[in-house]
Amino acid sequence: MQVQRGELAETDFMSGIEAYVKAIVLSNTAPKPEYSALFPEAKKKIAAIGKCPRCGCAVREGVKGFFCDSRDCGFKLWKDSKFWTAKKKPLTAAIVTRLLADGKVALKDLYSEKTGKTYSAVVSLDDDGGKYDNFKMEFTPGKAKR
Ligand SMILES: [Zn+2]
Repeated sequence: MQVQRGELAETDFMSGIEAYVKAIVLSNTAPKPEYSALFPEAKKKIAAIGKCPRCGCAVREGVKGFFCDSRDCGFKLWKDSKFWTAKKKPLTAAIVTRLLADGKVALKDLYSEKTGKTYSAVVSLDDDGGKYDNFKMEFTPGKAKR
């Protein structure tokens, strides 16, 4: 109304909105992972846990998984993916750190739906570059190395 009546310059009106939106974006320190790319300030506060195997950008932990910084890349590891929930093994930052650094990680106490027992195995990252993250199991005789 003020702009219409000539009491307020159009540019002042727009810069007011811009400042308001900027303040909201900066104050949001925990955006949803799918929107994290829109909140660069919030992202910087979360330490990177490794480098993306596809593009080399930083990978950071979100609420539901681990995500590559690059929006174009799209690399992500979901915490609630079937691979991990079936084994009753939470996908932690420690596991992802090893996967990103070495490409594999030795794990204990993986649950088997078939036998109802737990076992040890080496899980390696088998990224197909597609939509889903893929893991491969390697069974080593004896106990898994830590
Ligand atoms: Zn990436």
